Amino acid sequence: MKRGLFLSTAAARATRSIAYGSLYPAHTVPHRLTFTTPSHRHSRRHTFALLPTTALSSCPLLQNPNFLTGNRNSPFRGMERYCSGSSINRNKGMVDHLKSYGVIKSKRVAEVMETIDRALFVPSGNPPYVDSPLSIGYNATISAPHMHAMCLQLLQENLQAGMRALDVGSGTGYLTACFALMVGPQGRAVGVEHIPELVSSSIPNIEKSAAGTLLREGSLSVHIGDGRLGWPEFAPYDAIHVGAAAPEIPQPLIDQLKPGGRMVIPVGNIFQDLKVVDKDLDGSISVRDETSVRYVPLTNRDDQLRGS
Ligand code: SAH
Repeated sequence: MKRGLFLSTAAARATRSIAYGSLYPAHTVPHRLTFTTPSHRHSRRHTFALLPTTALSSCPLLQNPNFLTGNRNSPFRGMERYCSGSSINRNKGMVDHLKSYGVIKSKRVAEVMETIDRALFVPSGNPPYVDSPLSIGYNATISAPHMHAMCLQLLQENLQAGMRALDVGSGTGYLTACFALMVGPQGRAVGVEHIPELVSSSIPNIEKSAAGTLLREGSLSVHIGDGRLGWPEFAPYDAIHVGAAAPEIPQPLIDQLKPGGRMVIPVGNIFQDLKVVDKDLDGSISVRDETSVRYVPLTNRDDQLRGS
């Protein structure tokens, strides 16, 4: 943390060292929560952005208290310049920024994020290229660009041409569209979302994007359903992405992962870890924590709409 106010808390003195810091001038006051956890090899440092209620109410980007998403490489700083300007290359500017922060490491991920314009998926009136999650209604968010980039990075080996990908909690359809471009017309990208209105609005988003042809031709599909059950029709999947935090990894998703496949899923309640789940060719499962994150919950529709 370069600038910041460090607070000592009981929690900090207990198992984790927690520091809160300010990255922006006081009126927006985003905070970062940083803590270190010991692991078997070296201690890991986790950072994610925190906004206090005052910032939430004053910041039009972040009206939903469930907005939080981030990790230690969070490239919040400097992204505000993508709020304004008229360049048609603003989406590319966002990708370049994520590259310069090392979040995007591969050419394929850069290419797909350059090709799928995030602006097509962000509700109008919001600045699409800011590295922040944005409310999409129904107590849901479109994840921040750095989280989309990180998940694409983690899954890219399992998003080769001809492979199958499942996007659970497909929301706006952004990542489903990215998956579809990566696996191509011989592959299959499947989105599952339990809010029918979000499925309905994701379809024109995808249609307008570079993945529109794949939707029309059928290698990309979006379905209304409880994503905790996966989507058995097209299983097994080489890649599964879950865009909402589960209390534990749902067994149907493990079952629908192909041997050699990989799932990326946030797990936890207040403290969440982005878990990388690999299924070996012999069917054995290994799980590791990639980083600390905060996502909206993977839950049932009524609880989500109630915000509970
Ligand atoms: N990845 C998407 C949306 C992320 S927000 C994007 O970036 O646009 C998480 C999404 O998961 C929300 O759209 C929410 O409605 C959905 N969701 C939560 N629980 C779900 C469940 N049980 N089944 C399907 N979708 C779910």
